[in-house]
Amino acid sequence: MARLEAILKRFREIYPGSAAPRAWRAPGRVNLIGEHTDYNLGLVMPMAIQLECVVTAAPSSSGLLRVYSEELASSAEWPVANIGELRRRGDWSDRVAGVAWELSRRGATIAAQDLLISSTVPLGGGLSSSAALGVAVMLALGGPRDPLELAQLARAAETGFVGVPVGIMDQFVAARGRAGAAILLDCGSLEFREVRLPEGIAIVAANSMVRHELGGSAYRRRVEECAEAARVLGVKCLREAAASRLSELAGAPLLRARHVITENARVEEFAAAAERGDVEKMGITLIESHRSLRDDYQVSCAELDFLVETALSVPGVLGARMTGGGFGGSTVNLLRKEAVPALESALLEKYPEKFGWRPEIHVCIASDGASQLL
Ligand code: ADP
Ligand code: MG
Repeated sequence: MARLEAILKRFREIYPGSAAPRAWRAPGRVNLIGEHTDYNLGLVMPMAIQLECVVTAAPSSSGLLRVYSEELASSAEWPVANIGELRRRGDWSDRVAGVAWELSRRGATIAAQDLLISSTVPLGGGLSSSAALGVAVMLALGGPRDPLELAQLARAAETGFVGVPVGIMDQFVAARGRAGAAILLDCGSLEFREVRLPEGIAIVAANSMVRHELGGSAYRRRVEECAEAARVLGVKCLREAAASRLSELAGAPLLRARHVITENARVEEFAAAAERGDVEKMGITLIESHRSLRDDYQVSCAELDFLVETALSVPGVLGARMTGGGFGGSTVNLLRKEAVPALESALLEKYPEKFGWRPEIHVCIASDGASQLL
């Protein structure tokens, strides 16, 4: 693997004289359907993709946990003696410190070592660079090998230390994705199954290359609004709320709950359509999901809406929607394989005309979850 060779060369440049490194990888993901349902303990259907984060690590005698990110050209370090007392710094390094902190909270000893992060997952692109990083670092620091435990610890690091109230989806698929399949996951029971996608279709992610500031605070607000809707309805989480009770809600809780309840139903419809090879129905379900995210959940933005509308005007495109948290990031497109070049040229031509910069397009390959490389 040429990329691994290049990474090892960089490791020796950044940490000269270090011991022979080991390396782990964890993939990014594209969520096909089931958006903002994971923290409502509902259904999601993501697929791990070929873009991935590689973490290379070697023991050191420095007494420090040191890390360097290639993508940000930035480093950070912490004395391993007091990992338990670490505090959030408010930058990217929290995602590494959080993993060490979570492991140490559970009784593990963090050894002094040097880490190099090299990722092909776009940062903030809605393809979950954050979970790819968290899961790969978790493995590098000696976290559990069982995919479910690995995902749960990586998630705990993100909610407990970094302070983002995320659901389990991103870490789960980064840990347990499978080549050739999407994962239908019930975020409440944690039951899951692999769903093979029909022959002859392609999944394409289009990165808008924007991340609106609003995203972080709006995400928290949505989590709270869902909790509020669940309280009014007297259920533990929106997963347990029936559509027939929506009339008891008003305002934002009504809109948010309507999205979550209809989105859960759409995940089931989408998975069933995939299993019987009904690609048209899969596409329609994606289009409905986008409308619901735009109008009821209100997490889309002009760039994402434009990417979706432009894609839907291309013959052979079956469906498109925003994917990930929203307010920027990527869209996911379902199309007939032969339509890939036409979709690429439509997006690469029309999006820059309107917004002034190019989208980044990834034809997604369903890939395996995290693994050790060296
Ligand atoms: P997404 O997960 O959709 O890419 P997030 O906002 O959840 O977007 O996570 C992006 C953040 O994760 C970055 O701002 C950075 O803090 C961290 N991150 C991800 N990949 C890397 C990397 N390769 N190097 C350093 N930090 C990273
Ligand atoms: Mg993320």
